[in-house]
Amino acid sequence: MHFLRADLELTRHSYYAATAVRDAEHAALDGDVDCDVAIVGGGLAGLSAAIELAERGFAVRLLEARELGFGASGRNGGQAIHGLACDQEVIEAQLGLDDAKKVFAMTVEALDLIRERCSQHQIDCDWRDGYLGVAVSERKARALMASAERLESVYGLPMTRIQRDALPKWIASPRYVAAVHEAKSGHLHPLKYTLGLARAARGLGVVIHEHSAVVSIEHGQRTVLRTAQGSVRANQVLLAGNVYLQGLAPALQSRIMPVGTYIVATDPVDPALAQRLIPCGAAVCDNNFVLDYFRFTGDHRMLYGGRVSYSTATPANLAQSMRERMVGTFPQLAAQRIDYAWGGFVDISMNRAPDFGRLPDHPQVYYLQGFSGHGLALTGLAGRIVAEAMAGDAARFDTFARIQHHRFPGGAWLRTPALVLGMAWYRLKDALA
Ligand SMILES: Cc1cc2nc3c(=O)[nH]c(=O)nc-3n(C[C@H](O)[C@H](O)[C@H](O)COP(=O)(O)OP(=O)(O)OC[C@H]3O[C@@H](n4cnc5c(N)ncnc54)[C@H](O)[C@@H]3O)c2cc1C
Repeated sequence: MHFLRADLELTRHSYYAATAVRDAEHAALDGDVDCDVAIVGGGLAGLSAAIELAERGFAVRLLEARELGFGASGRNGGQAIHGLACDQEVIEAQLGLDDAKKVFAMTVEALDLIRERCSQHQIDCDWRDGYLGVAVSERKARALMASAERLESVYGLPMTRIQRDALPKWIASPRYVAAVHEAKSGHLHPLKYTLGLARAARGLGVVIHEHSAVVSIEHGQRTVLRTAQGSVRANQVLLAGNVYLQGLAPALQSRIMPVGTYIVATDPVDPALAQRLIPCGAAVCDNNFVLDYFRFTGDHRMLYGGRVSYSTATPANLAQSMRERMVGTFPQLAAQRIDYAWGGFVDISMNRAPDFGRLPDHPQVYYLQGFSGHGLALTGLAGRIVAEAMAGDAARFDTFARIQHHRFPGGAWLRTPALVLGMAWYRLKDALA
């Protein structure tokens, strides 16, 4: 899987890694142990489940192949936004409106959960309220307003609609023609948050092992996970390995694709200028198919994400090309330096809906994947509902598990080129906006 080579390179030079303190090391698994629930993956999904399970009295072990937060959870844009990566209509078509409403309400609960956890476990992760959705053209503006209208009237989420003449009070950019603001969403430093959750999990008795890649699963009355130096025998298992699971569950892997996305961070911007550029302080995201997402960090750097790589190859001149996008949005930042450039891979599903469930012949093995680039908040909720299901109340988990998913055509080697061709069409549509 050549994306893993690109991925390792992309973890270097991350603003988050440079500004978060790892206050604990977790010894690799050594020997054979027993527990109630074993979790594969030390990202936000795995850690959230670990906390929820420990709170319910389960003995939990969490195995992370590298370091906690190594994957998407420690590198993302930091934007915690309501909803899913796909439109609600996708969920309505599959589950009906009543269950689609339940799913949406859970995505809003996911935002409350972040606030609760930060306060309960004293996690200082630079949280800031607010999300601003922006449109680059009149056509995109109509789509943005229609979607806001529907989220408000059908799903009950308050949204503020902002027309062109009022835009400078919210964002000072020549690129946008309209915006919507939503106050419950927000943004944070994702690696500080991930490490904060790990501290909370440890405090609740969860045993965490880093540098402990699970290399095989043996199914039986109990499930055995093997690493190079040991094994964990568990009653129930959660696979929360995102695009990195590799050979552990091939059937799952064929339903997600690793897609690269990239971020730069500038040197600190004069706080007064930062305040002028985004007076509301929100996380900003446009509604293009290949979208730009950006925000100011706690120390006033512009953190600008965008571009994607469906081929998984890192774009040439990454920092320079991202800088050009950023300056196109904010010409006022032309003099800023780029201090950090990094990226990672998101686990997109074919319909961009999350893919939660249990392995077909092994219902004691649960999985969470397919967050499709919109998992910062939803991973928390996913951890909560998987814990509810393991504790005997699967109602909320099963609402998500009813969402049907298709395999990407072409198998492991052909699906990437097929996707690249498919995505060229969407890029063209963005360009014609
Ligand atoms: C660059 C980037 C920007 C993003 N921006 C946003 C954003 O602004 N807002 C948003 O909502 N979402 C965003 N996302 C998506 C979001 O970060 C993810 O949906 C979320 O972090 C997924 O969490 P996770 O726990 O499922 O996966 P991860 O955080 O990737 O964790 C999975 C972990 O499992 C481990 N693992 C895998 N296999 C094994 C194994 N066999 N044994 C042991 N360990 C294993 C991996 O090493 C990894 O650490 C972004 C993602 C990226 C990459």
